[in-house]
Amino acid sequence: MITVSSAKEMKNIIQDLKKQDKTIGFVPTMGYLHEGHLSLVDQSVRQCDITVMSIFVNPLQFGPGEDFERYPRDPKRDTLLAEKAGVDMLFYPDVKELYPTEPSVKVKAVDRTEVLCGASRPGHFDGVVTVLSILFNIVDPDKSFFGQKDAQQVAVVEGLTKSLHFPTEIIPVETVREEDGLAKSSRNVYLNEVERKEAPAIYQALNASSDIYKRNGRNAAIEHFRQALITVSGEIDYIEILTYPELKVPSESDTRLIIAAAVKFERARLIDNIIFTTEEES
Ligand code: AMP
Repeated sequence: MITVSSAKEMKNIIQDLKKQDKTIGFVPTMGYLHEGHLSLVDQSVRQCDITVMSIFVNPLQFGPGEDFERYPRDPKRDTLLAEKAGVDMLFYPDVKELYPTEPSVKVKAVDRTEVLCGASRPGHFDGVVTVLSILFNIVDPDKSFFGQKDAQQVAVVEGLTKSLHFPTEIIPVETVREEDGLAKSSRNVYLNEVERKEAPAIYQALNASSDIYKRNGRNAAIEHFRQALITVSGEIDYIEILTYPELKVPSESDTRLIIAAAVKFERARLIDNIIFTTEEES
């Protein structure tokens, strides 16, 4: 594996690989790697000749008072894990490399952002689509791999590639979970012992609520989620059921839905979701 921190060097290497007709798979991350990230690498290794991972904690996607400064970082461990997982090129730019000056252009996500994390983290998805536009231009990937754990991000990024004609295919990858169901996340290290025991209740409640939705509708499902988390110390930031990937309020004819929640613990805000269908299985 080679590690590159310069955008120019990265572009040159990619150009050479393209001349050799190699397909490029891309896994953008903020590092502090866990099995969730590595499952994206696994998919990329299976589907593409070359796998590029980026590690960049993007200041633009953090709001004031959020955890940009104390976001967990461990470059040494990440480098070892990336190499072991099969990454061919690790792109590890610093902030000045991607944003050498105050940007004169920023990308704004205008669809699928008024709800869920877009509503509770104003500007977050603008930061995401801006950095991804820069990274897509540097890495020029054939396929880009994103986790369904951040399902709204997948929906917004599909909008980005369609709207701005980025020639990369977005491949969603299933959420990787701990044995007790908690979605793996870099932020899980910030849970204290009690919170760590409580946190799997989020996934359990999402599962139960999606079943209740099918039988008894939205209000009963949301109410069930709230009741199931009543003894948990974290505070529900949102719980919502929407169409997926459009993220609209569902009507009776909509069958592909998402139930998504964010729960704020003392030092970590966790998100999780389930995408489900209301059609009877035959
Ligand atoms: P992050 O480093 O948190 O920005 O995540 C980088 C990529 O890994 C994103 O596409 C995430 O959706 C994905 N990811 C994070 N956690 C998981 C997980 N538990 N399972 C699958 N993908 C994940």
